[in-house]
Amino acid sequence: MLGGMVDVDVAIVGAGAAGLSLAHRLSRGGGPGGRPLETVLLEPPEGPARSPVRTWCFWEREAGEWDAVVSARWERLSVIGPEGEVYEAPAAPLVYKMIRSPDYERFVRTGLAETVREVTATVTEILDGPRRAVVRGVDGAGRDLQVRATWVFDSRPPRPLPRGTTTLLQHFRGWFVRTRSDAFVPEAASLMDLRTPQPRNGVSFGYVLPVSKREALVEYTEFTREVLDDAGYRRALEHYIGEVLGLGEVEVTAVEQGAIPMTDARFPRRSGRRVFRIGTAGGATRPSTGYTFSGVQRQTAAVARALARGRTPVPPCPHRRRHLEMDAVMLRALDTGRVDGADFFARLFRRNRLADVLGFLDGGSSLGRELRLGATTPVAPMAATAVERLWFALRPSRS
Ligand SMILES: Cc1cc2nc3c(=O)[nH]c(=O)nc-3n(C[C@H](O)[C@H](O)[C@H](O)COP(=O)(O)OP(=O)(O)OC[C@H]3O[C@@H](n4cnc5c(N)ncnc54)[C@H](O)[C@@H]3O)c2cc1C
Repeated sequence: MLGGMVDVDVAIVGAGAAGLSLAHRLSRGGGPGGRPLETVLLEPPEGPARSPVRTWCFWEREAGEWDAVVSARWERLSVIGPEGEVYEAPAAPLVYKMIRSPDYERFVRTGLAETVREVTATVTEILDGPRRAVVRGVDGAGRDLQVRATWVFDSRPPRPLPRGTTTLLQHFRGWFVRTRSDAFVPEAASLMDLRTPQPRNGVSFGYVLPVSKREALVEYTEFTREVLDDAGYRRALEHYIGEVLGLGEVEVTAVEQGAIPMTDARFPRRSGRRVFRIGTAGGATRPSTGYTFSGVQRQTAAVARALARGRTPVPPCPHRRRHLEMDAVMLRALDTGRVDGADFFARLFRRNRLADVLGFLDGGSSLGRELRLGATTPVAPMAATAVERLWFALRPSRS
């Protein structure tokens, strides 16, 4: 389809959460004066480069722009402490929602404008330039292709990760399970069930997202430095489902697995005069939670607005600086073992309104509320960690 060189306004590399969201917005907007922007969206063929199918959960006030593809929603959420104490509360005014990536892809793809062309290709190189950048790749048949674009938005997963002082992984495996008899309450999801065996540094937890009385996504998650092997995740899920939840025999109908970076490293959002990064690669992941979907929406909406106004479309960081600093302290305190992870999260949810914690984690809280939240965490080790971070920042570099 794209033999030789093609010239467009925008090239989007990767059709995942960020790439599709940007393509969706450009299909509805355009350049200055509403001029349609010729866009190419590049996604690799089935194979190792392509991101696997996944579910995205996020919370927002009642109605939202992706409601047509929301496959499950919960108005009551719970956190279960390490000793089994349950903190259950309405999420109001928020609703917790789940989208499955294939539904999102279908929805976006069917609504793309004619000016957005999808191309199956693995991008191998992006060359910046003063007026245009060139994206080079290989299509499904092994042929070379090149796209020349005024602006390039690269959402390929960042490898290696930028270096930070602390880097943990939120790594997990989830099973979609079916039970023989009714076992779940479809309106109520658990966000964190801390009754799992705890690692020495970091934290582990399970959670249950029911989609019917007999079906749920059950996940085992750790915030630690290293992923588990296949047997490790299987053992952890079998233990959580069998021993902790007591569900007995379940049928596993689908599996998802992932590792999301939780780091205080900065993700550069501009990698050239014409080339930018979006999504996880562009710092859209909230370091303390791994949640990315909402940040991606804020970031791509801002890029689309900048393009419509004819401005240089540098993707903004969708998180406030002070939240990134607070997250960095929390990650460091977890990683050093200064705070007990299970106790930390149980206290946070026990002592605060659920909607306040969720509001903070999504970046929508006031400083006053954040200070009140902070006062409910183990203050001494958190303060010591904050001082340590300040010391790292101020000490002269040894290079
Ligand atoms: C299993 C899983 C579950 C998650 N659940 C949640 C959740 O519930 N809530 C939440 O907020 N976040 C969640 N996340 C985190 C985050 O939202 C997702 O990782 C999200 O998909 C990130 O969007 P992205 O566009 O940055 O990356 P991706 O969605 O991974 O998109 C990157 C795209 O680049 C493509 N690509 C890769 N290499 C090339 C190449 N060489 N050339 C061209 N294209 C390429 C990939 O195929 C992919 O389509 C989850 C992550 C995982 C892994």
